[in-house]
Amino acid sequence: MRNVQDALHDILQHFNPLSSETVLLGASLGRTLAEAVYAQNDLPLFDNSSMDGFAVRAEDIQSVPVTLPLVMDIPAGVAPPQALGAGQAARIMTGAAMPVGADAVVPVEQTNANNDNPELPTTVEIYQSHAAGAYVRPRGEDVQTGTHIFESGHVLRPQDLGLLAGLGVSEVSVFQRPTVALLSTGDELLLPHDPIVPGKIRDMNTYSLAAMIESLGAAVLPLGIARDTAQDVEDKLLSAVEQGANVIVSSAGVSVGTRDVVKAVLENLGAIGFWKVNMRPGKPLAFGHVQGVPFFGLPGNPVSSLASFEIFVRPSLLKLMGQFHAITTYDVVLGEDMTSDGRESYIRVVLRRENGRLTAYSTGTQSSGALSSLVKADGLLIIPADVKQVQVGDILQVRPFAGQPILF
Ligand code: AMP
Ligand code: MG
Repeated sequence: MRNVQDALHDILQHFNPLSSETVLLGASLGRTLAEAVYAQNDLPLFDNSSMDGFAVRAEDIQSVPVTLPLVMDIPAGVAPPQALGAGQAARIMTGAAMPVGADAVVPVEQTNANNDNPELPTTVEIYQSHAAGAYVRPRGEDVQTGTHIFESGHVLRPQDLGLLAGLGVSEVSVFQRPTVALLSTGDELLLPHDPIVPGKIRDMNTYSLAAMIESLGAAVLPLGIARDTAQDVEDKLLSAVEQGANVIVSSAGVSVGTRDVVKAVLENLGAIGFWKVNMRPGKPLAFGHVQGVPFFGLPGNPVSSLASFEIFVRPSLLKLMGQFHAITTYDVVLGEDMTSDGRESYIRVVLRRENGRLTAYSTGTQSSGALSSLVKADGLLIIPADVKQVQVGDILQVRPFAGQPILF
């Protein structure tokens, strides 16, 4: 049996980031930057007021109340028409540029003015003194020109798009999305809308695996269901290659009973290795290539196929997308004793916050056919290889599912 880390290490050797492409900023959410980003301008772009009020020289308001003449009105979006002289004040709105000469803002609430009056009064009476810098957001306070903002491999989030817009970035260079061809195999498989037929079951893996692929930001090329014949499997695999798939993921037909069809086809079209990985669920794993396109043969059991996807396919796709550091685990406290047979075990758990700590409980049966126990789960708790017993209070690692909100 191979251990999980060695198997993953070998697999990852076959994946390198795809080339980059340029996309509009508005279409870049969730994409992975293919180059570092440096700030091309300061943020804020200029000294500006953080309040609606009056721009002054702080030295002129050290003794209050004081009445100052109003020499200009500065709404947001216009450059101040003149510099502020000694003993003068300017009406200024939030976000408007500070006039040269002014160094503080007095909020309107601390004056005799009220902003309901659109006319600029001739004077303003100020009741509160302030030091230089009060209510002023200085140029470059947030970001300075030349600052390193993101590194290559960063996955863009909503706030990142906002910052890039503020920095004048309208297009970004991102890694291309991989296209992942997805195949289910088995004579027993029906579609969800098919009527039940004795001896047959519905194809669940196509739906869960396609969703896993999509949740990572890759594109699915659906190949449908291949019957357990060499011809059908071969036709579908070749069509994946012809359509430019970067990876092929297939489920079922890799355990001892039925592997012959997949095995014979792969040996003919490329290469295939059948591995026994020291993990539970998901021991059988096939990895090879079809005419140079990497091929994963996942187990057929719905839980095993998802766990194997999580452990082997997800990191491979992330590497293709230029993400090198993307698998997150969290420390959790065990809420109950658990046992393992000594294989590296991925236990379906729910997480609850107890006494301020994330605490893991089994979702019930850990049978690899029981998909409902995966549905109840917040993530997979890892019991390391060779550990057969873990106890209440032990600290272990949990892998949240892709796209799974984790409770903090
Ligand atoms: P196999 O790997 O072909 O031996 O299949 C292992 C188990 O997974 C069998 O019980 C299959 O019926 C089941 N199975 C295979 N493919 C799927 C699928 N796409 N959806 C749900 N169950 C499946
Ligand atoms: Mg089968």
